[in-house]
Amino acid sequence: MKNEIVAIDGPAGSGKSSVARAVAERLGWAFLDTGAMYRALTSEALFRGIAIDDQDAIGELARSVELVTSPLVRVNGRDVEEEIRSEPINIAVSVVAANPQVREAMVERQREMARQQPKGTVVEGRDIATVVFPNATLKVYLTATLAERSRRRGEEGVESVVRRDEADSTREASPLRQADGAVVLDTTSRTIDEVVGEIIRCLKNNTSN
Ligand code: C5P
Repeated sequence: MKNEIVAIDGPAGSGKSSVARAVAERLGWAFLDTGAMYRALTSEALFRGIAIDDQDAIGELARSVELVTSPLVRVNGRDVEEEIRSEPINIAVSVVAANPQVREAMVERQREMARQQPKGTVVEGRDIATVVFPNATLKVYLTATLAERSRRRGEEGVESVVRRDEADSTREASPLRQADGAVVLDTTSRTIDEVVGEIIRCLKNNTSN
């Protein structure tokens, strides 16, 4: 059977996590937060005192570390659920995520995780529809105004959100961009339920064609 994938990309605060989690619940599918993987890896690098711009050392860590994102985010058995949302991680994660060795290792893990699911997986991130699952059953790109996205990110603050978006969309390795064929949804003045309903409708239309 074909592994079903709903791929959801978008910038920080566009609503990806809440929406993807709810879509997965509605479908009875698995949910994969790939941002949590990059954050957990960054946390482990800081924990071990590895310089985040040491590409080979971080690449090696990405290939060897034990990473779990559900039900709690753990790295080498350490619970990092709360720590990965902290300011030091917000600052360092985009540097770690721009490392091509890291991306290669994470993409491989993401495909493997999805392969193990009996039904399907809702996967959210920055490069899911463009690189990780270009043949996804449905591709979605979420957007929202900067004001709304910063409001949702609360403590992180507008400067950090702008800096992270800039880094993520201008990097050489798998930059954030809209995939060909993606359904684009602006979540600024929509509730999570409305966006979820729209995605489920698109999925039904896609699979009945
Ligand atoms: O989605 P979230 O804000 O948790 O992602 C944290 C960071 O992880 C992003 O700013 C980006 O640098 C990186 N990321 C990525 N590719 C993904 C998911 C996240 O580069 N698929």
